[in-house]
Amino acid sequence: MPGEQPRIAGLIKLNTNENPYPPAPGVLKAVREAVDSRLRLYPNPTAQALRERLARLHRCSAENVIIGNGSDELLAMAVRTFAEPATGSKGASRHRVQYFHPSYSLYPVLAEAHGAVPHPVPLGKGFSIPTPTSLRRGGMWDFRAAVTFVTTPNAPSGRGFTTRELNALCKAHRGLLILDEAYVDFARENAAALALRHPHVMVARTFSKAYSLCFQRVGYLMGHPELIDALHRTRDSYNVNGLGQAAALATLDHLPYYRKNFRRICATRDRLTLALGRLGFKVLPSQANFLLAEPPGFEAEIWLERLRARKILVRWFRYPEVRQYLRITIGTEGEATALLKAVRAILAEG
Ligand SMILES: *Cc1c(COP(=O)(O)O)cnc(C)c1O
Repeated sequence: MPGEQPRIAGLIKLNTNENPYPPAPGVLKAVREAVDSRLRLYPNPTAQALRERLARLHRCSAENVIIGNGSDELLAMAVRTFAEPATGSKGASRHRVQYFHPSYSLYPVLAEAHGAVPHPVPLGKGFSIPTPTSLRRGGMWDFRAAVTFVTTPNAPSGRGFTTRELNALCKAHRGLLILDEAYVDFARENAAALALRHPHVMVARTFSKAYSLCFQRVGYLMGHPELIDALHRTRDSYNVNGLGQAAALATLDHLPYYRKNFRRICATRDRLTLALGRLGFKVLPSQANFLLAEPPGFEAEIWLERLRARKILVRWFRYPEVRQYLRITIGTEGEATALLKAVRAILAEG
């Protein structure tokens, strides 16, 4: 279930990892200018101009890129294209959609919707990525699973993985591996090069979180042209709407604006990590635009309610690996200050 989107006046919304800063003024202008009589026309079916721009940005070719109606659509397409629904033998690799647990909650949903078999494998201590040797020793990892998703940086822990660790996994792995880099702009490293180096590896990116564009639904996958080709064959003809294409293209014209926002969000994140730590929270080091933090005093679920009563919405997941934590999206500096004030007040009330 996605995080809620309630309409409450004055609510500070730190529950769905949206960017607190608006799109660049030039992006809003480009979208507005695209709202004219061309709304009656179909958009470019493959978002060709956007693919070419992304290819230039990532120093690859447009054949290495496919655009989706949000990266969620592409993850769903990958499951439908590469995993076979299971009827009898549920243990076979060709039916398996594999992912580390905990990670993005959508993966098992996509597997089940397609009739494939969700195959979660626990992350290591402190939400670390196990080495290929320990995966082999553990015996649970399926090196030939039809589709494997790795959220990097991890959600909901915020833990970043190094390109070195990911490359080691890519080298040992045999099935299709999709590195889901939804939060990578807030991280120290990215693994885009691995998708262009290994023919069985793809990288998923989105304009939603880092580029303040959730509303428009634009994401992309990069990888070997044969994989991209297979996905094009299962793609809806006009999967990415015209305004989304225009907004994403304009976004790429304003990257310095967004990079400034990444730095602001990372600075707020680091300040909040320290300040919450001083108030008794155990905060995991994050390389994303959210924190996973274990609150002091009473249970995380109670904190969720107490913060909500003060019009601050954060996220709490019920499952055992993270139920003692709150996941807190990094908002503006002002929102961080308001959060800290609310936390102090709750602690004072006891
Ligand atoms: C938000 C998110 C996505 C999906 O992003 P959209 O492009 O908005 O569909 C994919 N993966 C992870 C891990 C996310 O957190």
